[in-house]
Amino acid sequence: TEQAADGGDLLERRGAVFATVQGHYYAAPPRIERGWRHHLLSTDGRSYLDIVNNVTPLGHAHPGVERAVARQLRRLNTNSRFHYASVVEFTERLAALLPDPLDTVFLVNSGSEAVDLGLRLAIGATGQPDVMALREAYHGWTYASDAVSTSLQDNPNALATRPSWVHTVDSPNSYRGRHRGADAARYAPEAVAAIDALAAEGRPAGAFVSETFYGNAGGVALPDGYLAEVYAAVRRHGGLAVADEVQAGYGRLGHWFWGFEQQQVVPDIVCVAKAMGNGHPLGAVVTTREIAERYREQGYFFSSTGGSPVSSVVGLTVLDALRDEDLQGNAVRVGGHLKLRLQALAERHAVVGAVHGSGLYLGLELVRDRGTLEPATEETAELCDRMLDLGVVVQPTGDHLNILKIKPPLCLDTAAADFFADALDLALTQLGHAD
Ligand code: PMP
Repeated sequence: TEQAADGGDLLERRGAVFATVQGHYYAAPPRIERGWRHHLLSTDGRSYLDIVNNVTPLGHAHPGVERAVARQLRRLNTNSRFHYASVVEFTERLAALLPDPLDTVFLVNSGSEAVDLGLRLAIGATGQPDVMALREAYHGWTYASDAVSTSLQDNPNALATRPSWVHTVDSPNSYRGRHRGADAARYAPEAVAAIDALAAEGRPAGAFVSETFYGNAGGVALPDGYLAEVYAAVRRHGGLAVADEVQAGYGRLGHWFWGFEQQQVVPDIVCVAKAMGNGHPLGAVVTTREIAERYREQGYFFSSTGGSPVSSVVGLTVLDALRDEDLQGNAVRVGGHLKLRLQALAERHAVVGAVHGSGLYLGLELVRDRGTLEPATEETAELCDRMLDLGVVVQPTGDHLNILKIKPPLCLDTAAADFFADALDLALTQLGHAD
């Protein structure tokens, strides 16, 4: 447009070339052109605490990643059909992070690709094209990963538009689902019954796919034993367990490197992304040699940039920094401290219904009534806007958009956690009194 040509309003120019589905945070967002650790810097000179960036566990502008990428770009970047050390070293390191028999790695570029490939591996290896998934989940935007995504937050028509090979069971939300508290133990037998019923119809599921720690609801742990029962049922009918670790994995939970460890299970196929590349596009599927070989008879795999020298070097650098900077330990320490601070807010503010999560994967759920759990959706939106004024970037999640998702870089320190909790305290106190 004319306005764009002479450097007109950047947000309008964005709107002119983006579809409306490609939204942005905030009605009037600050322009962010720099970041440092868990801080974001706007072009008008403000610093914001970043509470949403689970894609950058090491923090923004990490010097180790910057150096590794620059050095590798000066040397070589090509595809993984060439023979070089970094891709071997990275896949070995990744496989070593997973329990036996998960020893075979596919490198891709995103979480959507990882879930898509995970489903294709399962369907290819079993010859069973039906898939069982959880409702209210998000797994990606590609054909197969989108097909198993039913979160209304992302697509209001999600449930009505599933392809016929996708089947869903209730999301096992122990806070606001059909079964709450101790009753949440009922979700697993119900899911098992649905898996059995599908098999009885002559179309046993080739895969059961889910997050291993329930992300769309703000980091709610699945009920104890849930995945063990459901994985056993799907395997009984020849299917495979596909774990989406795109958000939960890589140390964010603190006590567990992988979400499936919390459930004490070992999946057949694990899909990883986000944190792996600290913002560089990196994803992976890790499975057994046998499943990968069976897929070879029916499917193809090659990714032009998956496992490139630059991506592999980034992957190695991120793993080194996670270890050297003890970021999983930091998630335990700072996440534990932050959770206590948030729980204290729940005692002072009736609108705080629950504090979910583990490590630095937390969720603050806002309700109008602790009995009915009526979601405080408008209040959550107001709170996020007020938090921006106070210098914090935090966003809502959940099908009712009434949960603050708290997934900061894992380098968050105690001072920043306190700043966040203090700002929240103030914003909660002022809720409904906006001038
Ligand atoms: N799975 C989960 C659980 C996710 O949260 C996401 C991204 N929000 C994806 C898959 C898709 O990942 P990507 O955006 O890298 O394609």
